[in-house]
Amino acid sequence: MQPLTRSVCVFCGARPGNNPAHLRTARDVGAMLARRGWRLVYGAGDLGLMGETARAAMQNGGATFGVIPRHLMGAEDARTDLSTLVITETMHERKKVMFANSDAMVVLPGGAGSLDEFFEVLTWRQLGLHAKPIILLDSAGYWAPLTGLIRHVIDQGFADPSLAGFFHTVEGVAALEERLCGALNQAA
Ligand code: AMP
Repeated sequence: MQPLTRSVCVFCGARPGNNPAHLRTARDVGAMLARRGWRLVYGAGDLGLMGETARAAMQNGGATFGVIPRHLMGAEDARTDLSTLVITETMHERKKVMFANSDAMVVLPGGAGSLDEFFEVLTWRQLGLHAKPIILLDSAGYWAPLTGLIRHVIDQGFADPSLAGFFHTVEGVAALEERLCGALNQAA
């Protein structure tokens, strides 16, 4: 039986980046999740794309589940008004709690932290440890170098071609919504 609420984890930058298109994307993702009744699982901070996604989800009445290590609460301006706030002792624990409480993972533009989060769930998937969907939202072509790198890794024989099938790339929020509907078995 499916749980009543589906949860979507969003990995994204704690900075806004230089291209305002990504902020708009983050806002649209937060609003879309709220409209669909999908709970946002994220890093609990109020900065950058993270903060923008959460604000949009909350402004549109969505549920939010934030997870943050105690030592980052100040640096990442942790929100204490989320539907649920989980404070962890370590970064590893943070990723574990975010993953365990999500039905799908979406990756918006971000830096080393977002890449770390993406590669962790991708490698877990490669090892058969889970079958949760992983979706790269290629806002304004931001992830093209990453998908190119993954193709290169496969072409050079360092990964099985199946690696490319363990994640999907979508170009916009409408395509993301459609893919999530399919992945979460909900009507588009
Ligand atoms: P960034 O994409 O670098 O802006 O980071 C996005 C988020 O990922 C921030 O909340 C970081 O604290 C978080 N992050 C960075 N490295 C890790 C890690 N190793 N484990 C868990 N979260 C991380």
